[in-house]
Formats: sequence, structure tokens, C-alpha cells
Amino acid sequence: MRMPRLVTRFVTVGFVASLAACSTVGTRGVKNTSKTFTTVVVDAGHGGKDSGAYRRYGPPEKMVALDVAQRLEKKLHESQIKTVMTRDSDVFIPLNDRVAIENKQKNAVFVSIHFNDSRKRRTRGFETYYHSGASFDLANRVQQKLMTIPNSSNGGVHTANFRVLRLANCPAVLVECGYLSNRSEGSQARDWEYRELLADRIAEAIVEQRYGAGVYQSSPQIAAQLRPQPEPGSAGTSLTPAGSR
Ligand SMILES: [Zn+2]
Repeated sequence: MRMPRLVTRFVTVGFVASLAACSTVGTRGVKNTSKTFTTVVVDAGHGGKDSGAYRRYGPPEKMVALDVAQRLEKKLHESQIKTVMTRDSDVFIPLNDRVAIENKQKNAVFVSIHFNDSRKRRTRGFETYYHSGASFDLANRVQQKLMTIPNSSNGGVHTANFRVLRLANCPAVLVECGYLSNRSEGSQARDWEYRELLADRIAEAIVEQRYGAGVYQSSPQIAAQLRPQPEPGSAGTSLTPAGSR
């Protein structure tokens, strides 16, 4: 999923130039609904024959991405936001079909959930991608909220030419929720409580983007996970309620 930045820029410039005569496609056709949207299109990456990042141990990217997407959908519902899922089971959905679903919505934003992969085992961190300028605020907010997860690593906010972002006519972001190839992030991704936390952070970013800070309510369990943990061995450790993890 990674592309050097320079290459991305070059491809973007080339794409926009080639469509200069067309007003409905490309960045200029994007309607900035990031403060007015009523619907969130939640896109779980990959599915069916397309496993995405695949590890010998633990579920493939398509499974963990779907789980985070479903948790995200539930949280958005609880915040009274309408949602549309591009897939809700382990099925293959071509990219163009995903784009069609996203662009069918009248007043929406699009959020795609992925996990990353690298040959370098040590590579880790959250990354958020966008294509149109109208998507930047949402991308930035998602990244900032993910960075509130204890011990998280910042892979940054980047532009990318992914089809679901490039062809969107609404603000659209793609979130890489950590590297399955990294020992620490890979094992966290296998933990449902951690996936619940990822979904919570992304949901908060979306709700805040729409309604402002302080509106979103985390569950008490999530709030406890986000509280700074006492150092191991300190007096505070024994106060941690049993079964809170
Ligand atoms: Zn992916």
C-alpha cells in the first residue's frame, strides 16, 4: 500500500492534468461535506478471495479490517449517524463497486479500514491517507485520535492515489490501523479489545469532525483503556480492577 511521496505527487498531478477539461471527476468535483455529512460509508478493505496482508499466525487483513469496520459502524449508529457498509461479510467487492457505493450517497464521508504490511518487521505505526483537499481535515483528525492510544506510533498523514480516494466525490480517507507484519501491532490486531479501541478512536474523530469536540461518548471500558496506566510494580497496579483487560 506504500508509495513514495514524490511518486504520489507526480501521479496526482498527471491525473488532474489529464482530466482538466472534466469538472465532475478529480479533486475539483469533490463536495466538501466534512462538516455537514449525515452518512458515513464504512469500507472494510479486501474480502473474499482478496485476503490483503496475510500472516502465518492470526487472521488475515480482510478479517481484522471487517471487524474494526463493524465496530465502527455500531459506534457511529450509537452517535445517531447513518452508515452504509461496502461489505458486511467475507465477500470480494471490486474497487469500482466500492466507489459506486460511496458516490451514491448524497451527503456523506467515506472511511476505509485497512491494516498494513511490510517486509521490514520493525516498521510500525498508524497512517491515514487522503486525496482531495476536502478530505484533509478528516484524515488529520483520525490520525490525531489514533495517536491517543497508549504506545502508538505515528506513521503520518499522506496523500495517496488509491482508487477509492481518487474517485470519491465526497471527503474520503483510508486508515492503516497498524502493521500486521510488526510483532507488537500484529498481536494487538488479534485482540478484540484493541480493535474495539481502534474503532472507538476513529468514531470519535468522525463525530468530532461533524459535531465538534466533546460530543462523542466513549464506553467506560474504552475510557479506562485510554487512561495512562501506572508503571508496572508501582503501588497503583493493585488498584486495577480484575478483569478490566
Ligand atoms: Zn489493505
